[in-house]
Amino acid sequence: MAQMIEAGQRFKWFTTVRKTGRTYRNSPEWVCRCTCGREVNAPEFALRNGQAGCCYPCAETMQIMRAGGKIEGRSVQQITIMKDTGTTQNRSKIYECKCNLCGNLFPARFVDLRKGQVVACPECAKKLPPPPDLGIR
Ligand SMILES: [Zn+2]
Ligand SMILES: [Zn+2]
Repeated sequence: MAQMIEAGQRFKWFTTVRKTGRTYRNSPEWVCRCTCGREVNAPEFALRNGQAGCCYPCAETMQIMRAGGKIEGRSVQQITIMKDTGTTQNRSKIYECKCNLCGNLFPARFVDLRKGQVVACPECAKKLPPPPDLGIR
């Protein structure tokens, strides 16, 4: 038997909040909070097998980053990607980002954004759980 899932458990960017009281394909459904603050329902089997792990808007931005699309103006986790600064660090583009928590602007490397390692500005990120390794290279 798999271990019981409890409130406050982390699955990628999701933290379980409470059970909805419903089931989906015989699996209890949970209200999960994404690192961006949105709440999404997901059944336990999808949390366990990794199908569910972030909200749709965050997943969409991550997909656009992997595909090399335009990311300016998009939000992911607690940041909004503002603009390409035109500078690079270790051959990675630097984007100016806005922290959705405190409003501060800060630079972030594209390589770190693409791996989901930039949760918020460096100051706010200190107060948040460390970002999980999503296995993106
Ligand atoms: Zn999200
Ligand atoms: Zn901040």
